[in-house]
Amino acid sequence: RVLVGTKVDETHANWVTAYNMLTGIRVAVSRTNAKLDRELTDADFDVKQKSTFDVAGNELVPSAKYDFKFKDYAPWVFRHLRSLFRIDPAEYLMSLTGKYILSELGSPGKSGSFFYFSRDYKYIIKTIHHAEHKFLRKILKDYYQHVRDNPNTLLSQFYGLHRVKVPYGKKIHFVVMNNLFPPHRDIHTTFDLKGSTIGRDYREDDLDKNPRATLKDLNWLRRKRQLELGIQKKRMFLEQLQKDVKLLKKLKIMDYSLLVGIHDLSRGNEENLRDKTLQVFNPGGEKDRGDEPPSVLLRTPSKLENARKARELRQMIRSERPVPIGQVLEKDHLEGQARPGFVFNQDDGGFQATHEDNTPADEVYYLGVIDCLTHYGMIKKIEHFWKGLTNDKTQISALPPDLYGDRFYNFIEGNTMSTEEAHREAQRRDAE
Ligand code: ATP
Ligand code: CA
Ligand code: CA
Repeated sequence: RVLVGTKVDETHANWVTAYNMLTGIRVAVSRTNAKLDRELTDADFDVKQKSTFDVAGNELVPSAKYDFKFKDYAPWVFRHLRSLFRIDPAEYLMSLTGKYILSELGSPGKSGSFFYFSRDYKYIIKTIHHAEHKFLRKILKDYYQHVRDNPNTLLSQFYGLHRVKVPYGKKIHFVVMNNLFPPHRDIHTTFDLKGSTIGRDYREDDLDKNPRATLKDLNWLRRKRQLELGIQKKRMFLEQLQKDVKLLKKLKIMDYSLLVGIHDLSRGNEENLRDKTLQVFNPGGEKDRGDEPPSVLLRTPSKLENARKARELRQMIRSERPVPIGQVLEKDHLEGQARPGFVFNQDDGGFQATHEDNTPADEVYYLGVIDCLTHYGMIKKIEHFWKGLTNDKTQISALPPDLYGDRFYNFIEGNTMSTEEAHREAQRRDAE
């Protein structure tokens, strides 16, 4: 699958939804950010803040293009989470601001969720099922405490939980989270690993058509891949993964995966993403139907302009003045992805492969645990029952959370061998 999706403009089927999501986020987040910081209370975890948008607007809510309702869940908790993840408040708003900011990935999974990238590719908006939404609210305190105690957690980083609804429309729940993959580096190979083998195969023949497809466990095994991390990095990685899996087991979560994006340093960047972004903004010279003249959209803002806009935005946030809708704020978005301080983002935003002797290898891994809002509830129990009739019980992907977590962890642990280790292991097996 190609990293860059379809630009969401006014001609796009989901334009109104996307517009409403971003408008709601901008107004709600700047409202919370405008207040003086304070400690969280237990009540903060249950807060729902509702705003009603319409064309007229009022002193609390600026006018919007469409009528819709927006709910912001636990705004203070997410403000604190963003701060724990070291997201600059003004930058966050800038990334999620402007009218032409999203590109849609459609629905890559079976679940029917939609994925949208912020225009700088730093953030992903994922629409989630109502059950996932309720579940995230239920576990929010555990999640928050885990993030506070584990700054380097590999779990998805949630920055916001919201809902939009247009008159007579369905309620759409969504989360804002980190894009694990960097905007400035090509990801040459992607794996989504669960530690299960049944149905976990991407047809390699189809790779010609779709060179960026997400591969699965069997592809990984067939290619005899390993996460090569050297002794020290391997220990840090497995220790953190074990803590994260412990929490997932405790919360009875399953069906998550380790997403691994591999940047091959020897191949470098074939296609520069900066060019791709411009392509997205000007697909085949197609006429732009936005309010702004196309030149504005295609122009990359200068550093100075960005600094000025960021300053304006900060001032607006401080003065509690709602940020006007439709204002196009851009940032020099393909820089500064490296996230200093976080262990698994220390090398160019990722984690560089390392040989047993601690010398760097030719790959950078971008990794994290994704899709971690599936509670082992009724649906999974039914699935387990039906699949259990036909397949080997330990290999199917829906099994109780403890077993799921153990199988997941053991698979990853068993696949973090250095070339030397893997070689010795193979020799040992041959000798048997
Ligand atoms: P299903 O439940 O059928 O697995 P889903 O709709 O819940 O699907 P996910 O498993 O969360 O979707 O994600 C599907 C794909 O989207 C992943 O395999 C990965 O390629 C991409 N993806 C998801 N989350 C991220 C992320 N945080 N960063 C980068 N890519 C992601
Ligand atoms: Ca998944
Ligand atoms: Ca899912």
